[in-house]
Amino acid sequence: MIDCLFCSIAEKKIPAKIIYEDERVVSFMDIAPANSGHLLVVPKMHYQDIEDIPDNALQELIIRVKKMAKVLGKISQGVNIVQNNKKAAGQAVDHVHFHVIPRYETDTLQFWKSGKYGSEDDMDKIANKLKNIISEMN
Ligand code: 5GP
Ligand code: ZN
Repeated sequence: MIDCLFCSIAEKKIPAKIIYEDERVVSFMDIAPANSGHLLVVPKMHYQDIEDIPDNALQELIIRVKKMAKVLGKISQGVNIVQNNKKAAGQAVDHVHFHVIPRYETDTLQFWKSGKYGSEDDMDKIANKLKNIISEMN
């Protein structure tokens, strides 16, 4: 038995303001919102992160993310979809989930600061490294 906050919420063992639920997925209010209306979309099955979740379960999940984005689009002027994987990326709850964050024309949220490569060669090096990883995957 895994001790997991989002499993406990999905199983109604811990309270949360659930706004949508079906056989596969639950969506509830983030307790510490980036913006008013910030939702989490969570599969009922426990998977740790994007690498762990099977493709079919991820497809089901993203369809619900789109649905929640449409809902939030009714109360805001835009939506950010954020998905953190592993501690270095800010994943605090090790049960895969999507953040769906409404954006208001008046808000000042900023998710990252744009950077730049030292040179085109630096950019090529990382691009080639990634392409090699991909070719070894297939
Ligand atoms: P992560 O950093 O793992 O991508 O996101 C986890 C999110 O879960 C955070 O935005 C955090 O505010 C939210 N969260 C943490 N604990 C609780 C809780 O007990 N209830 C709810 N509703 N959200 C939580
Ligand atoms: Zn879990």
